[in-house]
Amino acid sequence: MTAPVNVTVTGAAGQIGYALLFRIASGAMLGPDTPVRLKLLEIPQAVKAAEGTAMELDDCAFPLLAGIDVDDDAARAFDGTNVALLVGARPRGPGMERGDLLEANGGIFGPQGRAINDHAADDVRVLVVGNPANTNALIAAAHAPDVPAARFTAMTRLDHNRALSQVAHKAGVPVAQVRRLAIWGNHSATQYPDLFHAEVAGAPADALTADTAWLTQEFVPTVAKRGAAIIDARGASSAASAANAAIDHVHDWVLGTPEGDWTSAGVVSRGEYGVPEGLVCSFPVTSSDGEWHVVEGLEIDDLSRGLIDASVAELEAERTAVRELGLV
Ligand code: NDP
Repeated sequence: MTAPVNVTVTGAAGQIGYALLFRIASGAMLGPDTPVRLKLLEIPQAVKAAEGTAMELDDCAFPLLAGIDVDDDAARAFDGTNVALLVGARPRGPGMERGDLLEANGGIFGPQGRAINDHAADDVRVLVVGNPANTNALIAAAHAPDVPAARFTAMTRLDHNRALSQVAHKAGVPVAQVRRLAIWGNHSATQYPDLFHAEVAGAPADALTADTAWLTQEFVPTVAKRGAAIIDARGASSAASAANAAIDHVHDWVLGTPEGDWTSAGVVSRGEYGVPEGLVCSFPVTSSDGEWHVVEGLEIDDLSRGLIDASVAELEAERTAVRELGLV
C-alpha cells in the first residue's frame, strides 16, 4: 500500500464538511488504492462538533482511512498537507456590505494561505469552496509566494454539474451523453454556462443553442440561481451536491479528465480568452499529469463574449476591492 495522502478540510464541522469527509475517507476522491489521513480544521467553538464527526468517521472503519486529526490551529492542520479543501468561510450576515464580506474572508484566507505556504507539502493542491470562492483563492495564493499560483483553484464544478444535468433533462438523454460544456467567470450569479461547444449524444448541441430564448431566459438563469432554488426548497443550502463537486474537482485534478472531454474549474488566468492575468476565473479545463490546462482555441460568439466579459468584470471589481483592503 502507498503512503497516505494528507487531506486538510477547513470548516469540517459544517454542512458541506459533513457530506464531504465520509466520501474522501471511502476513496471516492483519490481512488480505491490511496489511503488518506484527514486533518480537520475548525474554529475553536466548532472543534467539539468536528470531533463528533471524527468519531463517526472512526466508526465507519474505512480501510483507506489512515488517521484523523482535529485542530483549530492552521499551522498544524496544514502541516504536510497534500490536498487542502478550504470550505469554511464567513457567510454574508444581515446588512453586511460586499467590502465587509471580502474583508472578513481575507482574515480567514490570508492566514490560511500563509500557513499553507509555510507548512504544506511541496505538491500541495488547494481547492477553495468557501465563498466568494474565486477571490478567496486569490487572497490565499497571494499569501503563499513559495507555492506556484496554479496550485490554488476555486470550485465551479457544481455549476458545471448543474449545467450538465439541465441539458440532459432538456435533451432527454442520460447525463453521461452531455460533454464539453463550460462554465466561465465567477462562481456567482454572473457565471456563464456555455453550450456553444457542447455535444449531446455525440453531436453538437445546435438545437439548444439555436433556441436563444431558452438559452438566455431559462438555461443560464436556472444554472446560476440553482443554489437559491435549493435553499427555497430545502430550507438549507446545498451541501451534498457541493461536496460531490469538490470530490469531482480533486479527483480529476489528481487523476486526469477523460479523453475527449473537459470540465470547468476556477484557475489562475494567464490571459487566456482576454481574461486579465492573475484573476482566478472559471474556464473549460482538462487535467493531465496533475495539472489543469485551459482548453484553448475555442471560438467565442458575441452572445458568449458579452456574458463572459460581464462575469470577468465582476472578478476584476472584487480584485480591486481586496487590493484596496490590502488583502492581495
Ligand atoms: P457550509 O458547509 O454549508 O458552507 C461552507 C462554505 O461553502 C460557505 O462559504 C458557502 O458559501 C460555500 N459554498 C460554496 N458553494 C456552495 C454551494 N453550492 N452550496 C452551499 N454552500 C456553498 O456552511 P456551514 O455554515 O454549515 O459550515 C461552515 C463551517 O465553517 C462552520 O463549521 C464554521 O465553524 C467553519 N469555519 C471554519 C473556519 C476555519 O476553519 N478557520 C473559518 C470560518 C468558518 P455561502 O455562504 O455563499 O453559502
